[in-house]
Amino acid sequence: MRRGFLRDAIETRSYYERVMDMIRTVNEMQAALSAMRRSGRRVALVPTMGALHEGHAALMRRAREQGAAAVVSIYVNPTQFGPHEDFKQYPRDLGADEQLCNREKVEVVFAPSDDEMYPGDGGSAHAAATWVEETTLSRRFEGERRPGHFRGVCTVVAKLFHIVQPDLAIFGQKDYQQLKVVQRMVRDLRFPIEIFFAPTVREPDGLALSSRNARLSTAERAQAAVLSKALRVAYDLFTEGEQSAHRLEAAMQRTVSLAPVARLDYAQIADGETLEPVANVQHGSVALIAAHVGKVRLIDNAIL
Ligand code: AMP
Repeated sequence: MRRGFLRDAIETRSYYERVMDMIRTVNEMQAALSAMRRSGRRVALVPTMGALHEGHAALMRRAREQGAAAVVSIYVNPTQFGPHEDFKQYPRDLGADEQLCNREKVEVVFAPSDDEMYPGDGGSAHAAATWVEETTLSRRFEGERRPGHFRGVCTVVAKLFHIVQPDLAIFGQKDYQQLKVVQRMVRDLRFPIEIFFAPTVREPDGLALSSRNARLSTAERAQAAVLSKALRVAYDLFTEGEQSAHRLEAAMQRTVSLAPVARLDYAQIADGETLEPVANVQHGSVALIAAHVGKVRLIDNAIL
């Protein structure tokens, strides 16, 4: 992971010797960006909080499918965590993350410090003076349960967009509301960036891959698939002709109640674009679910 190799490789056109760059500062990121631009390839940003898994890898592959050079950002953004949330316990493993990015032929890993991302705020990102906030799609579900969460997400994603200046950015359907909020922000702020999404990657029992899964005990892990099971039940009912959102929601609640370690937060059907709750389910409606499994809060969704 030596710095400068990307530039060397591009300048001598020896792509076979390409070595991934690990970049820590905004200045270095922008120098690397100039080099990537000279190569003529489009640049794709994959924003992550690290503790990378195969779900993240799928986003990197989506970038490559587009023929773009991939920049993966790894930054556990403090401002999208509430005061009583798991910021401190959030898993971090930069060494393993580098390996996965290398395997996926990522061009640049951008892993900035808090000072780089929130400069001049007296050491606390939360004390920042400038914020980006989307106020419509952010209102319900995660936004309601996690006040300030999407303000933190939009602020950090807008910063990353300015720093990396990608042509496209890839997000996971796993965080459906986040995807919709980011799409809205991109539209409203006229970012010249195309947003792509990749489907949720799951364990064989249906559990959506998540960095937080590592914090589940064995017993909790065994029951954590109840979220995806509940979504499956709703999906099957809908394909059998059930159109009442209420009945789908009740079926999801019943499914989750069968797992003693799971505590349901919400299980709701919403419009796939506006995220407003619906009474009648239609194609393109989305089933959204969140539950605590032990101390770990998990979310998942299914497009119907
Ligand atoms: P995170 O590191 O959890 O903030 O996620 C970074 C990106 O990876 C987001 O766009 C997520 O939606 C996406 N992602 C997380 N888990 C998965 C998954 N299981 N399948 C696909 N994408 C995912």
